[in-house]
Amino acid sequence: MTDIFARLSACDLCKDRFAATVTGHVPRSVFQGEASAKVLIAGQAPGARVHQSGRPFTDPSGDRLRDWMGINKEIFYDATRIAILPMGFCFPGYDRKGADLPPPAICAKTWRADVLHAFPNIQFTLLVGAYAQKWHLSTQGSVTEVVARWRAHLPHQLPLPHPSWRNRAWIKKNPWFETDVLPALRGCLKEVLA
Ligand code: SF4
Repeated sequence: MTDIFARLSACDLCKDRFAATVTGHVPRSVFQGEASAKVLIAGQAPGARVHQSGRPFTDPSGDRLRDWMGINKEIFYDATRIAILPMGFCFPGYDRKGADLPPPAICAKTWRADVLHAFPNIQFTLLVGAYAQKWHLSTQGSVTEVVARWRAHLPHQLPLPHPSWRNRAWIKKNPWFETDVLPALRGCLKEVLA
């Protein structure tokens, strides 16, 4: 565990790619977890604020995700219970419109299987956004289609949209997410984290 995290922290495979972005930043992998963790949050990639803080979800998306999960920061950042492993471990930079670039595919290809191997006690995985859903479920279809089939993946996995403010319209358009999916999410967490 310590070894793989040390290697991950030192990874600079995307050094040139990040240097060529508007922010010209250097790789800084951000993740959380200890081998005892029972819940995995499989996210997309850190944003600029998280890149600065070095701690996962220290941004409005994190506030919304914690609200969805019905847990406070103390539980959310308890690495003995919750692992946070995004599809890209470093902030990828911005595209021309100022939106976050996708997580570099080389990251999951290089690291994901080995890192997941270090978490043998995971019982429940939150698949946050399209990239995590594609990798973990090997599924086709839009986020809406995948999340709409949420019941099929319980009790071990639950696909969710990204908690970004950009998805507020999506949530409004799909009221079943708040009325049906979120209570199920909170119920599963209560059971697994008890
Ligand atoms: S995004 Fe992944 S592969 Fe790229 S530098 Fe960071 S840890 Fe390495």
